[in-house]
Amino acid sequence: MSYNNNLALTDSVLPRIHHSNVESGWYFQRLTTTSVETIQSLLDQLNFPQEKRKLACKTCRHLITTQDHKIEINGHHHHRFTNPSGITFEIGCFASATGGTHRGMPTLEFTWFSGYSWNLAHCANCLTHLGWFYQASQAENFYGLILANLIET
Ligand SMILES: [Zn+2]
Repeated sequence: MSYNNNLALTDSVLPRIHHSNVESGWYFQRLTTTSVETIQSLLDQLNFPQEKRKLACKTCRHLITTQDHKIEINGHHHHRFTNPSGITFEIGCFASATGGTHRGMPTLEFTWFSGYSWNLAHCANCLTHLGWFYQASQAENFYGLILANLIET
């Protein structure tokens, strides 16, 4: 193909591309914030397929929970707390953690979530401390898991 033919092809294609960009811009400008968030969430799922969304115990790789069980407590999934011994923990809130287990008498002492008692949560396989199980009532409970102790698989 000669130089001149390439030029002719470019000239004929460019106006159509330009037109299409204008239409895309028109479309995206009319999306509501909720629509944009929905599209973003769908794109995230495409980028991180289901099998990459599992969270396992960092010590033994036992499956603990999945990203789908992420919940917000007091408006946030991710919290940062320092215990009375001065140790800071980054924790994520999860509605359930089927691979976790919790033991001991629940207590309200030094609770990080007002109205929720806590006891220690461990990996059900290797018993590594993974965080805390919080309970406000029989039906209202969640796991606050130490993010550094989990690994995505
Ligand atoms: Zn484990």
